[in-house]
Amino acid sequence: MKYQDEYRNRELVQGLAAHLENLVAGYAGTMTFMEVCGTHTMSIYQYGLRGLLPAQVRLISGPGCPVCVTPNSYLDKAIACCRIPGVVVATFGDMLRVPGTSSSLMEERAKGADVRIVYSPLDAVKLAATNPQLKVVFLGVGFETTAPTIAGSILAARQQGLGNFFVLAAHKTMPVPMAALASDPELAISGFICPAHVSTIIGADAYQPLARDYQRPCVITGFEPADVLQGVAMLAAQVVAGESRVEIQYSRAVKPQGNPKARAILDEVFAPCDAEWRGLGMIPGSGLAIREEFASFDAERMLPLTPELSREPTGCRCGDVLKGKITPFDCPLFEQTCTPEAPVGACMVSTEGTCAAAYKYGR
Ligand code: SF4
Ligand code: SF4
Repeated sequence: MKYQDEYRNRELVQGLAAHLENLVAGYAGTMTFMEVCGTHTMSIYQYGLRGLLPAQVRLISGPGCPVCVTPNSYLDKAIACCRIPGVVVATFGDMLRVPGTSSSLMEERAKGADVRIVYSPLDAVKLAATNPQLKVVFLGVGFETTAPTIAGSILAARQQGLGNFFVLAAHKTMPVPMAALASDPELAISGFICPAHVSTIIGADAYQPLARDYQRPCVITGFEPADVLQGVAMLAAQVVAGESRVEIQYSRAVKPQGNPKARAILDEVFAPCDAEWRGLGMIPGSGLAIREEFASFDAERMLPLTPELSREPTGCRCGDVLKGKITPFDCPLFEQTCTPEAPVGACMVSTEGTCAAAYKYGR
């Protein structure tokens, strides 16, 4: 199956659903699989895949959207950046609408701050090179998928000798929070639908500790309906057999060793650090900090930031949504005071957010 349409073929999808039904026919308990990728969440809602699952199989959404897991404290720092005269904040579009404690980058822009949308971190480097009178701060948010390109932008800025390009870094890495979620008895996760794009960089081997030390089957799965159902069937087969292995369903893109070149760039510029996740709190070793050698590109070290004291929006349950403890429908603000047009929490803002997916496709 090479082309997208084949992965959406109705007979194929129905055949996989029947195969899954057979697989778990004699299984007495419930299997709970968590997807930790925003695009999987979108796909599951968009194609109504939950409706095709047997009663024994349950899917829950985890911390898969990079914008959603970025805590208010980071947004408050980004807002503090754009309030410094002569500073331009350059960011991907999603971050603009995420509310911080008492403002958002969009509101700050409306009040006159220089906040610009860029489509790649190299655009931000270009902006710095052509505007030497400005300080350009790029918002470095995301998982292992985006971190190598941001590392590349720091290397490019160094090569060009730029003294006015900075990154406000809050990158996060995937397998570590998955281990934290695997140990949460309240969630009782039976296995993981592993993120696809992240896995093209880190490789399947990165999940071996989850399968070995936490006995959680892991299947790296593509995004089309047939991919997701096949991935779920591969997980279910492991659970039924009482096994836990790492398998690759998305073999057309993911290799066991990942992308060594991208990982080398990432390791050159970033070092592991503790990181704060919205909803999950501080997780040791789950973030990426700019290495000492590149400190002159680190906005946090180089600019006088005075962010306000952060707090989460009243009533917002994003934390519980991100941990898979509740669905968006269980949040009392869902559809009431929280909509994509007027989001209260980050999960409603991002196109990959669980609440946004539930709002668009789940009702
Ligand atoms: S970056 Fe890719 S793997 Fe990560 S959440 Fe988004 S779609 Fe999923
Ligand atoms: S519906 Fe809104 S307030 Fe509730 S959890 Fe989702 S994003 Fe947060």
